[in-house]
Amino acid sequence: MSQSDDATRILIVDDEPEIQPLYHLWFRKKVAAGIYKLHFALDGMTALEMIGRKPEIEIVLCDINMPNMNGLTLLPKLLELSNVLQVIMVSAYGDMPNIRQAMNLGAYDFLTKPINFEDLEKTIEKTQKIIHLAKRAKISKELEERNSNLLELDRLKTLFFTNISHEFRTPLTAILATAEQIKTAPNTWIEKGLPIIERNGHRLLDLINQVMELRRLESGKPVEIQLFRGDIIGFLHYLLESFQPQLEHKQIQLNIRGEVPELIIDFDPDKLTIILSNLISNAIKYTPAGGQVTVEITQQETALKLAVSDTGLGIPGADLAFVFDRFFRAATSSDEGGSGIGLSLTKELVELLNGEIGVESQEGSGSTFWVQLPISRQAEPIDIEQLKKAAPSVGPIQESVAFLGPNDERPRLLIVEDNIDIAQYLRSCLENEFFVHIAWNGQEGIEVAIESVPDMIISDVMMPVKNGYELCDTLKSNQTTSHIPIILLTAKSDEVSRLEGLEKGADAYLAKPFNRKELNIRVRKLLELRKNLQAHYSAIENHPSGPGEVRNEEDAFLWSVRKAVEEHIDQEHFGIVELCRSIGTSRTQLHRKIKALTNVSTSIYLRSIRMERAKKLLLETDLNVSEISYEVGFKDPRYFSSKFREHFGQRPSDLRRT
Ligand code: ADP
Repeated sequence: MSQSDDATRILIVDDEPEIQPLYHLWFRKKVAAGIYKLHFALDGMTALEMIGRKPEIEIVLCDINMPNMNGLTLLPKLLELSNVLQVIMVSAYGDMPNIRQAMNLGAYDFLTKPINFEDLEKTIEKTQKIIHLAKRAKISKELEERNSNLLELDRLKTLFFTNISHEFRTPLTAILATAEQIKTAPNTWIEKGLPIIERNGHRLLDLINQVMELRRLESGKPVEIQLFRGDIIGFLHYLLESFQPQLEHKQIQLNIRGEVPELIIDFDPDKLTIILSNLISNAIKYTPAGGQVTVEITQQETALKLAVSDTGLGIPGADLAFVFDRFFRAATSSDEGGSGIGLSLTKELVELLNGEIGVESQEGSGSTFWVQLPISRQAEPIDIEQLKKAAPSVGPIQESVAFLGPNDERPRLLIVEDNIDIAQYLRSCLENEFFVHIAWNGQEGIEVAIESVPDMIISDVMMPVKNGYELCDTLKSNQTTSHIPIILLTAKSDEVSRLEGLEKGADAYLAKPFNRKELNIRVRKLLELRKNLQAHYSAIENHPSGPGEVRNEEDAFLWSVRKAVEEHIDQEHFGIVELCRSIGTSRTQLHRKIKALTNVSTSIYLRSIRMERAKKLLLETDLNVSEISYEVGFKDPRYFSSKFREHFGQRPSDLRRT
């Protein structure tokens, strides 16, 4: 048996049956020794059918002249069936035109009748060698392919581990940070902190469960479906309710549409919970604040259709086909945390329930994920209230957001962070020193920063809508906000991200999980730097007095103010309102920026520009004090003199005498 396994299998295709004994006779020893194994076919169709059945046949001896299908027609069909197979053509002596044609069609060699068997044996040996080479090439190509598949899988796994570690770090930071709070201030924190720990612990558990669930599905072991008969509509509404806190947190409106008030059918509550939760959390995650999520429930003839639509980022057309693949994450979502397993798990579960899932999406305007589940009514009935007790629910998220108010003297800190627990932890660490405002994504952060010019910003990097790098980039190149120190906060502690952050102008970097001490050190350092900046700009000599002296955004801002004031310096009524109009900022922006740089109020700063000009005129011209007073916008020379004295500690006439 093992001998014939190594045998070279030869198929002889010839319409003359009487030729067969000749082959048997000539090759009897080789056949007996298991070196050759001979097969015969009397026509082309039989030959093709045989090759189909016995792919181990490697050499075909094929007659050219046969009725029905001749050798020239058969040859290409044979070659198509296998890329290892070699064909040796057999024809009458002198049939050169047909033989040439066969060779051009891909025959390996030819013989002429009457067959010289000795010559045939040599031809077979030669053919065996070429077959051997072809097989080796095929194997190495297969290996190469397998290798590159493994590499791709490896790359996806690494990506998955990177993503999932980021996913883990945020809840872990919240838990560790809260534990620290409880340790330092047990009385105030024990009650506030426990729900945070609990919620984030659940989040971690959810993540792990998803990974395990996927493993289980992939292991091929049967997964149990537990169907109950009950009102699925009531259950869906109940599930949707549990997303209310997340929806409110992101100010997303949830619409529920569907004409079915009640529908008693079989469903698996656990699986349905995972399916719907994944679709809804994605819709919330990938939709900017203020958007809408719509769940549409329709009853079809034999199925129930659930469609979850959002007005969010959408998915690029090229990515659409891959969203249900494991570990896949669309380019548009790279700034959100995520592992790329939610949807693949959802799809596996939907298919397990004999349902279908699909997606339609337009990049930039939103996505619709739909699920269709077959309707059956055979399972045990169950009361929906019972299910509600068993189903996991999302704990309430308590929120307390302080908005900027006018009467607080503390420096203003803007926290830009989409995770409510981390945001609250930061606030609790810093609220004694700062008046804190929280923005929930990069875009909101940018808007608040430009509008209210805070004294410091702490921003997460991975956030919806706009990420921390974009925030840094925008604020650092805006004259109104360029001076604000920014601390970037991120789960990415690797060097590349750190460099990217610093390049975009971040003043410091803090990797999650961080502790209170580290945070305080960073904040203190930046406040010191800020004091140095103020010390520099509080001396008006250090302000640029011409466009040639502008070296950075701060200089540029101060120069634009000075230029505007100097252009109108003889106009008594050119005040703050006129200045704002002239340089295009709001009163608050102007005031905050000037105060941040020089530590004086806008009106004092304006006055000092006038006074500096007056001093210059006193020293460098022959104009008298009244003329100079008009020149710098004072109608009343006595008032001018008193203000001058207030400013420089000397009267204008004192300067003249020296
Ligand atoms: P994750 O959200 O953890 O990355 P999923 O498997 O749930 O993983 O989703 C895979 C990818 O599909 C996401 O990374 C995102 O790119 C895209 N995606 C899923 N849902 C939406 C949605 N509602 N809007 C836009 N993109 C989505």
